Amino acid sequence: MRRFFRSSPEKAIRAVCKGRLANYLSQDAIDEVYQAFVFAEKNHRGQTRKSGEQYIHHPIEVAATLAELQMDSRTLIASLLHDVIEDTPATKEEVTEKFGADIALLVDGVSKIGQIRFDSKEQAEAENFRKMIMAMSRDVRVMIIKLADRLHNMRTLDIMRAEKQKRISKQTLEVYAPIAERLGLYHWARELQDLCFLYLYPKRHSALSKAIEQRQGNRKLVVEKLKESVSLTLNGAGLEDFKVKGRQKSVFSIYKKMKKKQRTFDELFDIYGFRIIVQSVDECYRVLGIVHNAYKPIPGRFADYIAIPKANGYQSLHTVVFGPLGDNIEVQIRTRRMDQIAEAGVAAHWVYKSDGESHDTSNHLARQWLLDLLDPAHQTENAVEFLEHLKTDLYPDEVYVFTPQGDIKKMPRGATALDFAYAVHTDVGNHCTGARINKSLATLPSVLHNGDSVEIITSKGSWPTTAWLNYAVTAKARTHIRNYLKQQTEEDALRLGKRLLAGATKQRLFGRRKIPSNVQAALLDEFGLENWSQLLVDIGLGRRLPDLVARQIAQLTEEKVEGRVIGQEALVIRGSEGLLVTYSKCCSPVPGDSIIGSFTAGHGLAVHTADCPNMSDLRKQPENFLLVDWDESIDQSFNAKLRVKLNHITGAFAEVAIAIAENGSNINHVDVHEGSESVRQMDFLVDVKNRKQLAKIIKAIYRSPTVSKVTRHKG
Ligand code: MN
Repeated sequence: MRRFFRSSPEKAIRAVCKGRLANYLSQDAIDEVYQAFVFAEKNHRGQTRKSGEQYIHHPIEVAATLAELQMDSRTLIASLLHDVIEDTPATKEEVTEKFGADIALLVDGVSKIGQIRFDSKEQAEAENFRKMIMAMSRDVRVMIIKLADRLHNMRTLDIMRAEKQKRISKQTLEVYAPIAERLGLYHWARELQDLCFLYLYPKRHSALSKAIEQRQGNRKLVVEKLKESVSLTLNGAGLEDFKVKGRQKSVFSIYKKMKKKQRTFDELFDIYGFRIIVQSVDECYRVLGIVHNAYKPIPGRFADYIAIPKANGYQSLHTVVFGPLGDNIEVQIRTRRMDQIAEAGVAAHWVYKSDGESHDTSNHLARQWLLDLLDPAHQTENAVEFLEHLKTDLYPDEVYVFTPQGDIKKMPRGATALDFAYAVHTDVGNHCTGARINKSLATLPSVLHNGDSVEIITSKGSWPTTAWLNYAVTAKARTHIRNYLKQQTEEDALRLGKRLLAGATKQRLFGRRKIPSNVQAALLDEFGLENWSQLLVDIGLGRRLPDLVARQIAQLTEEKVEGRVIGQEALVIRGSEGLLVTYSKCCSPVPGDSIIGSFTAGHGLAVHTADCPNMSDLRKQPENFLLVDWDESIDQSFNAKLRVKLNHITGAFAEVAIAIAENGSNINHVDVHEGSESVRQMDFLVDVKNRKQLAKIIKAIYRSPTVSKVTRHKG
């Protein structure tokens, strides 16, 4: 590849402005582009590329390439700035301030893609990687700038060491060329592929290029004549406004075809073709008829992509005919618009009107194509929505993150570190305590973003809790958490059931604890249960009332059933009963309160304060109740609700908060109730160990002169 030193960046950018930009942008827009050059040039000054050339020539070349596709002025500005955040002292804030948030986002997006490390992996990984960086682009323009950047780097790759040439070419071939293809930027894709082929397989490339050149030399005259005769034939049929372009296949595509079809070069005939570009769809079919009339078509090689467009919206008629020298000649026939889309792909939609702002959205096909590209579910006829879609993610429902080993995992959008832990392994999920996201500590509910590298921290003593279900998004994580909780609940239920039944039978059977096996069997039979554990689990879950079961046992053992049960013994609450003993939110009991237990079928025992207003109705069914008491050694925090009435507002909250904190408690939640200007009421949910501590807190709050009343709030 030839390299030359341009006289000055200034001259280079002026040439672009006066040339390509003047063709489609307003003078104002061109001035803005020039200002971006000034800023970029100032920041890159003193930097050189490996060739020795001033660095700024690289962004100028990238912008010039984009201008070929008539990209909007913002894309051009962002392309001139594409390396300033990454490689110069200029910051994102500075770019935002000077050029606006829109452009800063584009520049930042291009930088972020550049930061991802890609080590060549197997095919599936490469596909995920492509999806990840497309998803990271958010705005399609980010990807287009990145591709133009890569194209210029590939064009100037000859200066690099062979090893680097190979590495960059491999990445380009695996990642960027397929993305260019996907975006319909076939022109760029072909050039990228040919350059990659050149650096990856220099010998094969030169042999094949020579062979192509040779054949081209032989055929050149023939082809010229053919072109002429096609033109004449079309003229003769009354067609005036058309173009016939000779089209040579890329070296790489011929190589690929040889490999795929296991043919030698000489066996591959259709390396040359024509493209006929006409004004209307009608004319496409007319021209097809004319061509088939003049040259014999090869059976089975005709394809109508106008009637049935390709998935990416590509439209054209394809046919292969016998040439005069016995060669097969490919002929493509399409309209100008179709050609534009085929060549510029997604960029064809940035055909600008004179104001440089509005998108050309008139083409239904193009619009449809881009929508399909974004998400088939997002199809819409509304032009405004269409513009919105241009800025949304290419893969709106997925994020791609790295494991510490550099593997890529696909997660649904909104997935958290916890989901990731379960995606790694169930054991990792069940024991995780936190994460390192991009090397910083993060909590399990942290939402993952594209490109994050995630490491999970585990601990043997850590287990899932019900709270995890609030921030597990993936089905896998949720299922595993539920399974774990279910199993755990069963174990808890078994233990609690045993205690409850023991307590109940002790009263009913006057101290006899052992239940004869024939009684057990009879009971299981009556309940339709398989084994004794099931009965205990049922009791623990509150599905069967311990006293009723005990009464039945008493009947079966022919104990005296009737009569008052004296001295019922309370179940001692130890705080370690697990999920089956819950402390009611209505009255928020704390150790020291006198309490009662109420069975709730399937959920075990709910502990209420004895004076809880919700209990008065339920008291009518005494078998639903259980005497309970606090274990003396219970040592954990409980929620208590305090209702505080304030005279003044100013400073009051701080005083109450201090009173709570000074007594060793935390505020978990605050509700402020609307009141008159001078009287307001606040509800505090605080952490306490027992009644004594709560009393101290209440006393301390009373000391504040702004407080008129403090009550423990129940119900
Ligand atoms: Mn660059």
